[in-house]
Amino acid sequence: MARLLERLPDRLQRYRDQTRYRQRQSHSDSGSVVFNSNDYLGLSQHPRLISAFAEAVSRYGAGSGGSHLVCGHHRQHQLLEQELADFVQRERALLFSSGYAANLGVMQALLSRHDRVVGDRLNHASLIDAARLCGVTHHRYRHLDIEHARQLLQGESDRGLLLATDGVFSMDGDIAPLAGLATVAGDTEATLFVDDAHGFGVLGPHGEGSVTAAGLDSEQVPVLMATLGKSAGLQGAFVAGSEALIEALIQFSRTYIYTTALPPAVAAALRVSIRLIAEESWRRERLQENIAIFQSLARQEGLSLLDSTTAIQGVSVGDAQLALRCAEQVCEQGYLVTAIRAPTVPAGSERIRITLTSLHRHEQIAGLVVALARAMPEAAHSSKRDVLEKSSEAAH
Ligand code: PMP
Repeated sequence: MARLLERLPDRLQRYRDQTRYRQRQSHSDSGSVVFNSNDYLGLSQHPRLISAFAEAVSRYGAGSGGSHLVCGHHRQHQLLEQELADFVQRERALLFSSGYAANLGVMQALLSRHDRVVGDRLNHASLIDAARLCGVTHHRYRHLDIEHARQLLQGESDRGLLLATDGVFSMDGDIAPLAGLATVAGDTEATLFVDDAHGFGVLGPHGEGSVTAAGLDSEQVPVLMATLGKSAGLQGAFVAGSEALIEALIQFSRTYIYTTALPPAVAAALRVSIRLIAEESWRRERLQENIAIFQSLARQEGLSLLDSTTAIQGVSVGDAQLALRCAEQVCEQGYLVTAIRAPTVPAGSERIRITLTSLHRHEQIAGLVVALARAMPEAAHSSKRDVLEKSSEAAH
């Protein structure tokens, strides 16, 4: 016991020396403009959501009192699951207390040891951990590379195959080539599993997410997971799919069975969230406008942007120390942004990660870009010639 704890200081020091040490961050009392939250539609501050939550707490109490299979399954969970299933056009949906738990639960319930997972190299940590914890063979294809995915899946007809991808990649903001992956899954008899944490609420005509936006249905993407702590503004996650999938998760998924159900008030408030996502389409339009404004101003400043059309935008820095220093300087100027470093992203691809929301005002975005340009080392600016070339290409 003592020995295990004794070695921690050295380990922590090594982490500091590698510039990997992280601090917990709060935005509630900073007074700064927040450009690193996942509250893409600003729903966490929506007056209707706040009052629905407060009202539900006074009606149902604070906590659920137990796990779903013991006593914690409330009518509000049931109604929310039905509404989520209808919203993403699946037979059923199942609530989990977090996206991390949902990903672990899906893989553990579906896979046995001789099955295989093939996933995008940049998939979220929870998908990677899920495959590791199941003890299955896990192969990772080059980011967005459909043909590499096909190669890894081919010739395995005697094994169960799961093809797993983020819908929108959490650190890069680019969108998975879902139509191509669905074709590969169909050809190789793999099951396509999409983690749409960052697409749900923002993409698709009513916010259904990246799968609907790609024109795919429940046959092509039989397992869909999305989180409810990002665009939906609260907490939790759901898995949507067939009756058999959901029943199997209820019976076999340990991260569903052996944990306390979300408070019923959270479920009640999430029902309002889902309605707001569908009804207030101006929030998606405003978000798209804000993304376009950010990109255009950042390019004018010669900042080197990652290739993303979503709310997640990255400015490449390529070095952990520099990324930290830049983020600090931008924060000092009143804009909260995050330096993303290894091990979250591969070493050498460190960046400043910016997330835009529907509630950002134009002058705040302009202020952020000025702060970024001031803080950014020369290396992170693409050369003027590069910018001119890009804009002349765009004009053709
Ligand atoms: N998947 C992706 C792609 C994510 O970005 C996240 C959260 N950052 C999760 C899963 C985990 O979701 P949660 O925060 O609800 O555990």
